[in-house]
Amino acid sequence: MTEIPEDHPRHDSLVTRHRIEDGVDRGVTSRQGLIAQGRGEAYDYLLGEQTIPSADDAERAAAAHLLLADHPVLSVNGNVAALVPGELVELAEVTGADLEVNLFNRTEQRVERIAEYLREHGADEVKGTKADARIPGLDHERAKVDSDGIFDADVVLVPLEDGDRAEALADMGKTELVVDLNPLSRSAQTASVPIVDNAVRAIPNITAHARDLRGASRAELEAVVEEFDAGAALAAAEERIRTGASEEE
Ligand code: ATP
Ligand code: MG
Repeated sequence: MTEIPEDHPRHDSLVTRHRIEDGVDRGVTSRQGLIAQGRGEAYDYLLGEQTIPSADDAERAAAAHLLLADHPVLSVNGNVAALVPGELVELAEVTGADLEVNLFNRTEQRVERIAEYLREHGADEVKGTKADARIPGLDHERAKVDSDGIFDADVVLVPLEDGDRAEALADMGKTELVVDLNPLSRSAQTASVPIVDNAVRAIPNITAHARDLRGASRAELEAVVEEFDAGAALAAAEERIRTGASEEE
């Protein structure tokens, strides 16, 4: 990996890009993942590469949902596995969530590589290899999930999900927490909690909120969930991207 000088003005962005490249070399990230990364970078640039206040609210609401859930699952694809493997394991630990590899471009080999990569980062159990259940309304390959994982979950965190699958999961009545830098993406639009932020910042910040909320009562957690307004959060993110301005600060 090329050394990136700490004082390079694009340091963080370049480090992130190299993690995706490395993910492709390891067989963790698909080549399409490179394109998704490029789209994400453009939105992130316009957001100022920071967690805007509405995204922080969404991350707190996501943490409350995960803590309230009977069976929370963190869905892992090739991009987030490359970007934040250890951070995903930590979020799963703090919230008691399962980790499940769930790929748009599924190959058994890549599922196994990602599961192995998460185990190298401290995960004990990684779901997604059984693929013995199907999400209704999707074609066979894209529908595969574990019966005791995403299929059974009441709350699912899906980073960078494809629009069709996000809709199909929502149609199953699941509470969907979506991390996506594009507020106009169908995935973000169908989410109960759209988190318009880079997964690199979003995942650790959800964990920080979960730690902070761990001692809260159910009523307090439910209040955090109630106060969050998905439509307002999407509008605030779109406003920031289009005009650079923010009403909320
Ligand atoms: P659409 O949702 O418009 O139908 P799509 O979801 O099929 O399109 P992709 O290019 O696969 O199209 O989408 C990838 C999405 O993931 C983009 O919206 C991009 O902004 C987002 N994204 C990429 N990298 C990150 C990241 N690190 N954190 C959060 N979101 C990201
Ligand atoms: Mg999308």
